[in-house]
Amino acid sequence: MSSNPVAETVASLMPRAKEELAALVAFRSVADFDQFPRSESVGAANWTAAALRAEGFQDVALLDTPDGTQSVYGYLPGPEGAKTVLLYAHYDVQPPLDEAGWATPPFELTERDGRWYGRGAADCKGGVIMHLLALRALTANGGVPVHVKVIAEGSEEQGTGGLERYAEQHPELLAADTIVIGDAGNFRVGLPTVTSTLRGMTLLRVKVDTLEGNLHSGQFGGAAPDALGALIRVLDSLRAEDGSTTVDGLAADDRWEGLAYDEEQFRRDARVLDGVELIGSGSVADRIWARPSVTVLGIDCPPVVGATPSVQAGARALVSLRVPPGVDAAEATKLLQAHLEARTPWGARVGVEQLGQGQAFRADTTSPAYQAMADAMAVAYPGEEMQYAGQGGSIPLCNTLASLYPQAEILLIGLSEPEAQIHAVNESVSPEELERLSVAEAHFLRNYAAS
Ligand SMILES: [Zn+2]
Repeated sequence: MSSNPVAETVASLMPRAKEELAALVAFRSVADFDQFPRSESVGAANWTAAALRAEGFQDVALLDTPDGTQSVYGYLPGPEGAKTVLLYAHYDVQPPLDEAGWATPPFELTERDGRWYGRGAADCKGGVIMHLLALRALTANGGVPVHVKVIAEGSEEQGTGGLERYAEQHPELLAADTIVIGDAGNFRVGLPTVTSTLRGMTLLRVKVDTLEGNLHSGQFGGAAPDALGALIRVLDSLRAEDGSTTVDGLAADDRWEGLAYDEEQFRRDARVLDGVELIGSGSVADRIWARPSVTVLGIDCPPVVGATPSVQAGARALVSLRVPPGVDAAEATKLLQAHLEARTPWGARVGVEQLGQGQAFRADTTSPAYQAMADAMAVAYPGEEMQYAGQGGSIPLCNTLASLYPQAEILLIGLSEPEAQIHAVNESVSPEELERLSVAEAHFLRNYAAS
């Protein structure tokens, strides 16, 4: 990329980018103010706001979102009649977890073996820096050819939904022709990847009751209907012998058309113990991106320590179902609820309550925005073709933006490749990835403006 002025500018800005990322990482901006002082998050928000103002952004503001945190907003006007692109990142981070497990202090950006270590270096303070680098590279080379809105969320990791609700209450604020979510990552270092689908989810609580009270298992066990046993049986009915998710009436045979996920690679990424089989059927990508998957998140029953010889009168479980693109989450919820009710054995009383739901998301990869990104990635990653990955989890903000702006294309890129170990101890970012993705984002904005 060395003969490319945008790439040259980004390369020359990398030392400054490192200093800036170090400054941003130094804020312990975990949006849980019982654990970390609010002033740390406010510091990171103010840093981000100042950086936007320095780039000529207007209307820069710290928005008070309904969850008691702040998102940073700014608007950079482009040429008359230009399209509008929204760039997203978040400045809040996961807690450092076990600080003793870090090889270097989590809030001190530290270079080691060609990577920069620190909490939030990849997820997602690096994303803030990536957007700044892309814009600076364009400013230095003829200008930014689109209107740009930046939104840096302050509580993404907490899942408290502040920005989603704020956006719903101010539907004009984030309106854009295309949205770049800088919070995903390449499938592996050096392989340009756009995440084009997200699974949705539904969360149900199931309660099974069989007796007026617990009974002595010696005196009554064998005939007395055991609520915990009934719960175990109905939960087990959600899986086939090979571990595939089986919810009555819910299709589970879709195929993933994008990137292939090698099974051995998956075993390593998931840290599966030797000799233990993967579950489900189809390719790994089918299973984690294109098919439903049920997980029992918790069971209320007596803990082993202190358990008494009793037949349980009641038991509860929290059941999560990841819903693949193309399936309506509300419909999946109904099917799961009906399955749980119909398959609870022995006439046990069963109650199912829904606690949460999010729709799946699928981008239109044939759109001009995707073409613009593919061309940009080809410049930033010579010789590599842009790949399409899915993401097994949901990003509720994507759904909020997709429903507020149904015409807008949403692209998910970012620095969270597997080596980044986001959310774990010793999180790091690859500076080469930061550089390449900043170049890609700059070219994307140019290509998209011209499309
Ligand atoms: Zn993130």
